[in-house]
Amino acid sequence: MSRRKTLVLATHNIHKQTEMNSIMSDLGVQVIGLDQFPDIKDIEETGTTLIENALIKARTVYQLTGLPSLSDDTGLEVDALNGAPGVYTARYAGENPTFEDNVNKMLLELKDVSDFKRIARFRTVLAFVNSDSELCEEGIIEGEITKSVFGKDGFGYDPIFKPKNYSITFAEMSAEEKNRISHRARALVKMKKTIKKYFKNGDSIE
Ligand code: IMP
Repeated sequence: MSRRKTLVLATHNIHKQTEMNSIMSDLGVQVIGLDQFPDIKDIEETGTTLIENALIKARTVYQLTGLPSLSDDTGLEVDALNGAPGVYTARYAGENPTFEDNVNKMLLELKDVSDFKRIARFRTVLAFVNSDSELCEEGIIEGEITKSVFGKDGFGYDPIFKPKNYSITFAEMSAEEKNRISHRARALVKMKKTIKKYFKNGDSIE
């Protein structure tokens, strides 16, 4: 496959790479992750919004690789916490927390919050950057934070996030099921349509 048809996913997270790869697989391009570029270390997310952070990551990877780059930034917004942790979702329990630290902190913060007030949503912003374009798309899934952990699959807050109209958490779903409805999947489906046009035009992508 030609260099022109390669898309770099601006993430080191292997779970996300697998998710994004399976959704983008029918785009007809070679999708590679940052593991192919060991010199690119973690990119600091210095923005104050999901859009800023997504653009920072995609721009940096485009500049370093010269290849069209796609990044994502996700926030978990909990109504009972006035929309927190939002842009700070990854660092909710402090610097470099484990997924378990973040989950435990969330359960503790919401310990006195009743069932019907545990409304939350995941919001993903995707940013695509190449030589002549910067594009963003958003995907949202509504749901609620459970009172304890359920399931072992997935990553991050999956064991405590139950999507609306479902009786199981993301961590209890198969990867296929999560990829059909997730915030990232929704943003990716929109982005795929936009990127397709670029690949059709051919000359815009490099
Ligand atoms: P990021 O911006 O995509 O790195 O995500 C920020 C935080 O949200 C990380 O701590 C992730 O664990 C969490 N997160 C992102 N996507 C998901 C998901 O699909 N399920 C559970 N947690 C997620």
